[in-house]
Amino acid sequence: MIDSSKHLGKRKQLAELLESKGIKDRAVLSAIKSIPRHLFLDSSFEDHAYQDKAFPIAADQTISQPYTVAFQTELLAVKANDKILEIGTGSGYQTAVLLFLKARVYTIERQNELFKKTSLFFKKIGYKPKKMIFGDGYKGLVEEAPFDSIIVTAGAPFVPKALLAQLKIGGRLVIPVGDKTQIMTLFTRTSATSFEKKEFGDFSFVPLLENKS
Ligand code: SAH
Repeated sequence: MIDSSKHLGKRKQLAELLESKGIKDRAVLSAIKSIPRHLFLDSSFEDHAYQDKAFPIAADQTISQPYTVAFQTELLAVKANDKILEIGTGSGYQTAVLLFLKARVYTIERQNELFKKTSLFFKKIGYKPKKMIFGDGYKGLVEEAPFDSIIVTAGAPFVPKALLAQLKIGGRLVIPVGDKTQIMTLFTRTSATSFEKKEFGDFSFVPLLENKS
């Protein structure tokens, strides 16, 4: 697993590109500059790792486009030590961004192949989420709730009630909602029973799937 000055140079350019596309959060931009995205991809895609594009990973899934990762992370407004639930571990790249921001990360993946692959990769590279869970993100993670924020990295046909219920007061849920394309949506919990909703334009994700059984 090699990281070189050539990779670093490309990452800097990628961070500059994301800034020109409207990402403002300095900590998010430095995460993009620091995390070796090429190691999260199959080696055949390594040369393309610092393009602002999604790429295929195992189990017919995709690593999200860097702009999307940065955009969702900016909406989360992460603070050090935040307890964050991520739905859709995938390649682990978004997880790595949250860890870089010093969050305590719980991450759920429903494809066993990806769950195993990314768990192994994290051990090798030394990234330490609090927990990696093989399971169904629609249910959230009730035994660890409440969370400071929850991020969904797959397109949700509807907003799962369990996820809203597992937010702290003041907590944020960032979720792309829709079938073919998704509207990036931010819910902020304003009291035990109320939520504020804001929408942020169209994105395109692989679907958040319900249990196979
Ligand atoms: N953050 C990841 C995105 C991967 S794509 C990355 O940047 O690599 C979305 C992921 O969500 C896929 O890995 C998919 O298997 C997973 N997924 C889909 N439905 C899910 C569910 N119900 N629970 C947990 N993970 C789910």
